[in-house]
Amino acid sequence: MSSLVSSIRENYQSTLDQIADAARRSSRDPNEIRLVVVTKSQPIEVVQAAMDAGVRILGENYPEEGVRKMQSLAGQSGVEWHMIGHVQSRKARLVADHFALLHSLDSLKLAQRLDRFAAERNRVLPVLLEFNVGGEESKSGWDASAEEAWGALLPDILFILDLPALRVQGLMTMPPLGTDPEDSRRFFRRLRRLRDHLAVQFPRADWHELSMGTSADYPVAVEEGATLVRVGTAIVGARKYKPGGPVDKSEVEA
Ligand SMILES: *Cc1c(COP(=O)(O)O)cnc(C)c1O
Repeated sequence: MSSLVSSIRENYQSTLDQIADAARRSSRDPNEIRLVVVTKSQPIEVVQAAMDAGVRILGENYPEEGVRKMQSLAGQSGVEWHMIGHVQSRKARLVADHFALLHSLDSLKLAQRLDRFAAERNRVLPVLLEFNVGGEESKSGWDASAEEAWGALLPDILFILDLPALRVQGLMTMPPLGTDPEDSRRFFRRLRRLRDHLAVQFPRADWHELSMGTSADYPVAVEEGATLVRVGTAIVGARKYKPGGPVDKSEVEA
């Protein structure tokens, strides 16, 4: 086994162990939590090594980069590809065609386009709704920072729940960057409370997924109810080139 594979395998296993510990601390079943290994901006060799190390779910931020990687690794089954980054409307078709789950549905316009493209392929695309629980200008997602204003979100959500080729499964957030994992806790709690609120408003819809937590804070996210954590650097190391850049090692080194 290459040293890259064994180091990823070790990091992956220790992340799974910490997820299980955090689940037990909060009296949860560790099997409710899925680990998405984020390989955005990592070369294809790293993605291959993650697959060889036993990773089951890969997360990518840029549709084109993700699809290029899928295509160069085609034929190796058993992994699921998730889109976790902001998707521009003009990239909607790539997502509708290729990804198993979109974590980051953040606008009505994108929802309508995804619905149309998924319908054209006779598929139903599972999605999570992204909320900006910290109210930062720079973050995607519906602003859910003020709980007293949650009522204003309901028309958009109702509209999305009615789109026949999308299947909402829960919520996702990316909290403000803190200096301590504990800084994220109140934001994760807010997302969970929002989920509970929506489950009362729309009881027939599926709200079971909470995608929250990265390398910086995933144990806290698990304690607060995460069912999907998105961990990159803690497993596959620092990103090798700037977001959206080339995926071939030769291009990186050129
Ligand atoms: C990059 C990214 C992650 C992973 O971040 P790490 O710090 O590498 O664990 C998780 N979620 C989203 C939306 C990201 O863009």
